[in-house]
Amino acid sequence: MTTTRKLRPATQLVHAGTLRSGFGETSEALFLTQGFVYDTAEAAESRFKGEEPGFIYSRYANPTTDMFEKRMCALEGAEDARATASGMAAVAAAILCQVKAGDHVLAARALFGSCRYIIETLLPKYGVDFTLIDGSKAENWEKAIRPNTKALFLESPTNPTLEIVDIAAVAKVANSVGAKLIVDNVFATPLFQKPLELGAHIVVYSATKHIEGQGRCLGGVILSDKKWIDENLHEYFRHTGPGLSPFNSWIMLKGLETLPVRVRQQTESAAKIAGFLADHPAVSKVIYPGRADHPQADIIARQMTGGSTLVAFELKDGKKAAFDCENGLEVVRISNNLGDSKSLITHPATTTHKNLTDEARAELGISDGLLRLSVGLEDADDLIEDFDAALKAAK
Ligand SMILES: *Cc1c(COP(=O)(O)O)cnc(C)c1O
Repeated sequence: MTTTRKLRPATQLVHAGTLRSGFGETSEALFLTQGFVYDTAEAAESRFKGEEPGFIYSRYANPTTDMFEKRMCALEGAEDARATASGMAAVAAAILCQVKAGDHVLAARALFGSCRYIIETLLPKYGVDFTLIDGSKAENWEKAIRPNTKALFLESPTNPTLEIVDIAAVAKVANSVGAKLIVDNVFATPLFQKPLELGAHIVVYSATKHIEGQGRCLGGVILSDKKWIDENLHEYFRHTGPGLSPFNSWIMLKGLETLPVRVRQQTESAAKIAGFLADHPAVSKVIYPGRADHPQADIIARQMTGGSTLVAFELKDGKKAAFDCENGLEVVRISNNLGDSKSLITHPATTTHKNLTDEARAELGISDGLLRLSVGLEDADDLIEDFDAALKAAK
């Protein structure tokens, strides 16, 4: 792009970061290569010294992956990014690259299961202390912060109960001790929430979800300012090798082109389905960030510009009703994944959150009747008819 005008997200997602080869191809090229050749020994020397720009090895950087990273930076308003092989590779690298024995990490307890493993199980093995709190109340962060807190970690909305954390308030707490706030922004998508603008220092994604959008490959990305990446992530990333393959980068890059169209449609359908479920006699509760009855609607209005492609709801008759509903669905498929073009439903208590104790599940509001729905690209009326029939069967 040669324009100096400030372009809107949908336009950036089609054009930003494009690197054209000498052939002038329209679509982004897939550079499926491990390495790069140098015209002379002197050229190799100066590239290794960093005096000449260019690629060295695809564990460090690759032109297709570079396009995906640059397009993500344009969307997120970040200075720099690194794409990773999965969302968990992004979370692990973002935390591990900056902590050492004796440091403390503070996180909300409502986290994706593998993120809890990194904080609760992995970090202590390396002498890093942690505290998990109810992140929905800003004062809990203030109480638990320590002078040696190095990183704070949260997701908002949370999985699976779509609870909200006040990102701007937590960023202030982080700044009070010079710690870095990492936000896992998967559920909000980069379109509906801009953690860096709210004061967060680092944003991570599982690109596996909405960015990929069609259930094919895994990926992740870490975004931050150039200084933090240069000083913390750059060397860690080169030498531990969590980078995204060029092929998967290419899928993600093309996924970004349709992200706004997909997410807008999925959100519109999710709102419609949430409305249908809220009025249904078998449903005791619907949690949807786009509804005025969300308990944290005031924070949502401040920090998000859209609802969600996910809906959480609770059936009055507990586990049996939840299972009957899942088994009665014919279009919506049972799966633990989300952000797919196919609508997917999961029963968190017996799948994604089965490893938590009953007590921990209760703290998070994960009851036996709770279901989490990820809304896809099917016609919303077909999805509503599917639920209508499944909930009749559940009775
Ligand atoms: C899926 C997910 C992850 C992990 O991503 P993978 O790509 O599966 O490794 C992390 N955080 C959240 C919120 C997720 O939904």
